[in-house]
Amino acid sequence: MRIFLSALTATFACSLFAQSGIVANIDLRDQENDRLKVELVVPPFADAPLYFALPRIVPGIYGAMDHGRLAGTVEAFDGDGNPLPIERVDVGRWRIPEPHGLKRITYTVDDGWEEFDIRFTMGNYRSSEGTMRPSATVLNHNTVLGYFEDHEELPYTLHLNKPATHYAATSLPRTAETSETITFQAKSYRHLVDNPMMIAPPDTAHIRLPDIDVLVACHSTTGKAIAHDIAKHIRPLLADQRAYLGGTLPVKEYTFLIYHNPSDREGSSMGDGLEHSASTLILLCMPLDAEAIARNVYGIASHEFFHTLLPLSVHSEEIAHYDFRAPRLSRHLWLYEGMTEYFAMHMPVKQGRQSLEEFMETVSGKIQQMRKFPDDIALTTLSQQAMERQDQYVQLLPQGHALLHGPRPDAARAIEGQLRRARIGARPDARVWSRQTIQG
Ligand SMILES: [Zn+2]
Repeated sequence: MRIFLSALTATFACSLFAQSGIVANIDLRDQENDRLKVELVVPPFADAPLYFALPRIVPGIYGAMDHGRLAGTVEAFDGDGNPLPIERVDVGRWRIPEPHGLKRITYTVDDGWEEFDIRFTMGNYRSSEGTMRPSATVLNHNTVLGYFEDHEELPYTLHLNKPATHYAATSLPRTAETSETITFQAKSYRHLVDNPMMIAPPDTAHIRLPDIDVLVACHSTTGKAIAHDIAKHIRPLLADQRAYLGGTLPVKEYTFLIYHNPSDREGSSMGDGLEHSASTLILLCMPLDAEAIARNVYGIASHEFFHTLLPLSVHSEEIAHYDFRAPRLSRHLWLYEGMTEYFAMHMPVKQGRQSLEEFMETVSGKIQQMRKFPDDIALTTLSQQAMERQDQYVQLLPQGHALLHGPRPDAARAIEGQLRRARIGARPDARVWSRQTIQG
């Protein structure tokens, strides 16, 4: 997760699965009062009662969003179309006392925001939600599609109907496609949520390098095509990241989803990125200036792409077994965010795109930012309390970074020692990460 605000502040699956999983049907062309109709066709469930839910929070963000607040009346039906009892127990949770015979769940959902601006009226984590406009849709599945508690591992088949003029950009695997209907497959609810989509008139560019295929899909509300200009800046970024990581990139396919809306406050701009295993969603509110947009995308894309290492490849069990209602936050959040930001900052000087003076200036800036926060709480404690301490969570980026290259060199040496001894994991990408840390 990375948010910047300038001027205003200082700164798979197969058809076998489909038969036993959940089938979701949505039609973007069929909205009433800005609400999207959702139908879930479900397999037989043995447990009673059964709980249907929309996430309270998703991986990568550290504040409760209660995505269920966007859902209207949820209804349950048996195979003959007869309604079954269902009651809402809280903002994102519904109880079905007798799910025997349950066949379908239906409801409508609102979009999380109408337009991405610099006003923060929708909270800090708009990159975990989205908008559904005739011109373009940003779709985070966690705001639209629910799951059944204790059945999060069920696969999903999503039938998406869309305007023929729109392209659906996502890393979610697709198994069938016509101009107006696409069928996607997700291995689990987690896999579904990990692959957001942007559905808009095509403004795309492909970056094909020997070891990675990257799709840059953009939508600017100005109507101007921007993907080609942005891709020109992402191509060297990927080359730099490969060199920085010792010659190997952690993923083979990746999608950048970039939504741009021009800023209506002169001199102000804002960006919000949320990392995923095979994609990043970047929301931008800034003037339509290709150079400025590309520069900001370089910074956010660099940070979010480095998240493919931490925490998406190397992480503690709290991340591996994610609870969408009450996640146990890892003590290592400072490491995930701090190290990721450190990689993004250190890479330009290491790869010769920045002078040592410029790098030191950036480091100074981070240390200055860090000093604005209380230093009487351990970063591990703050990491576990990130949801309650929203105002202080942002310090994890400068603090984590400063630990490695700043006023706490003893801590940095201790971390290096631990990493050398632990030899984190056996995945090649984990080894790359460890080596780079030690060199860093
Ligand atoms: Zn981050």
